[in-house]
Amino acid sequence: MTTDIEIARAASLRPMPEIAAKLDIPEEALIPCGRDKAKLDAGFIAELEGRESGKLILVTAISPTPAGEGKTTTTVGLGDGLARIGKRSAICIREASLGPNFGMKGGAAGGGYAQVVPMESMNLHFTGDFHAIGAAHNLLAAMIDNHIYWGNTLEIDERRVSWKRVVDMNDRALRDIVVSLGGVSNGFPRQTGFDITVASEVMACLCLSRDLDELQERLGRIVVAYRRDRSPITCADIGADGAMVVLLKDAMQPNLVQSLEGTPAFVHGGPFANIAHGCNSVIATQSALKLADYVVTEAGFGADLGAEKFFNIKCRKAGLTPSAAVVVATVRALKMNGGVAKADLGAENVAAVEKGCANLARHIANTKGFGVPVVVAINHFTADTEAEIAAVRAAAEAQGVEAVLCTHWADGGAGAEALAEKIVELTESPSHFAPLYPDDMGLFDKIEVIAKRIYHAGEVVADKKILDQLRDWEAAGYRELPICIAKTQYSFSSDPTLIGAPEGHILPIREVRLSAGAGFVVVICGEIMTMPGLPRHPAAEKIGLDADGRITGLF
Ligand code: ADP
Ligand code: MG
Repeated sequence: MTTDIEIARAASLRPMPEIAAKLDIPEEALIPCGRDKAKLDAGFIAELEGRESGKLILVTAISPTPAGEGKTTTTVGLGDGLARIGKRSAICIREASLGPNFGMKGGAAGGGYAQVVPMESMNLHFTGDFHAIGAAHNLLAAMIDNHIYWGNTLEIDERRVSWKRVVDMNDRALRDIVVSLGGVSNGFPRQTGFDITVASEVMACLCLSRDLDELQERLGRIVVAYRRDRSPITCADIGADGAMVVLLKDAMQPNLVQSLEGTPAFVHGGPFANIAHGCNSVIATQSALKLADYVVTEAGFGADLGAEKFFNIKCRKAGLTPSAAVVVATVRALKMNGGVAKADLGAENVAAVEKGCANLARHIANTKGFGVPVVVAINHFTADTEAEIAAVRAAAEAQGVEAVLCTHWADGGAGAEALAEKIVELTESPSHFAPLYPDDMGLFDKIEVIAKRIYHAGEVVADKKILDQLRDWEAAGYRELPICIAKTQYSFSSDPTLIGAPEGHILPIREVRLSAGAGFVVVICGEIMTMPGLPRHPAAEKIGLDADGRITGLF
């Protein structure tokens, strides 16, 4: 079998001006980043304002399992499929985090014949955006400790500095650390830690801002520490927002690359899908919408997390109206949701598929609940049988939606033409998109709406400390913020072993965090890791360069 990297390497990439021309982007609007990558000029983006927007299509999925669903693969395949049927299409996906590539294999550029290229670059340093985000984040961290060192006029309580440092590496040794050891000239020792760069609130701010002015405002609002009286201290109080924007000036510009079939692909931003909203940048999506008639984008994890946040956070805040949603399902993942172990996925098991389809059915109903037309994409794996596929079709039909069999992984855009036709049909009538809750609803009530309507939880449980905290934030002017739930992606509940479509479970809130810059309240239900570790045998042990200077062992 040909691997993703072999397919990607065999591709002959078209010159960037040719890709840009497909969307009538003039060559002057491209800022070349090497041969196959370019950033879009800020002035050009500003000129797009006022143009009519194309149609926005969200690709989401059933609850993920280790069997893999292929959301990115389907996003790329559908973009190519739309191009093949003569539509002006663009793909919008996230950039990849560097660290996880050296732990367990798995790229972020799609797979098979539905990939974005250059994939090695995209999965490594790409255009340096994440390094810039890390630098901006750490500048703020350095300025906080420096402020304390030089007399602490803001009266920061050193025990309550919430701003940590970041690095784009899986490094569990940095999770909890003590800084400023070594004597008087190194400051005041305090406990802190590192997160991985994609978990930085700077990342979420960049991804939700329309332009650099908005980015600076958001950065300025980030709460970095508290005083002894618990009053918040912001990034603007530290005076770091201006310098941070300078560091982020280029990172803010969307990156343009291409799919294997030459469809323009905007790859920009990559916020965590748990403690942040998990989709590509607003500036990339909006630019793409002004330039293409159909824009296909992806949200992380299953629809209970990814689509919910895409609709309630990104679309609400950026004023986007999605025209349709694709729920990706695979026979393998449905079988696992029906209770089959990973080792037994090879054998036909229609009953397990039918059982697992309860999960699909709920994701369909939830997504339709946002007023957006839905189609199911069955991402075809070679071992799938006719009877299993028929079971998925029947389950989708029972929810009043069509399931389209797609073979883009094996066949490229040709394998997603039927899906593309269906999308064109679905988006002919206007979308009735509406977020799930209004801005002015109380914070705890918003959490309950998500828990009950999307997760089918019976109850949300939080102790008094958490409820008081939510009320304090409401009083401090944060009532209008949307909710960003961080919970396991494997279940509608907060228990990863409760697969399928559980009902009446309890959603326990462990912790709440204010992301005042990004503009949401993070509600943590269960263990959430913001600094991953490496496995016993990290992929890095096998990664290297061969005699021709090519990367080996990466994917
Ligand atoms: P997601 O975006 O849902 O996390 P990806 O699209 O990144 O998933 O795909 C995950 C992995 O699964 C990739 O390595 C990809 O090559 C593989 N994959 C996706 N679809 C198929 C398929 N139909 N057959 C075989 N492998 C697939
Ligand atoms: Mg993906």
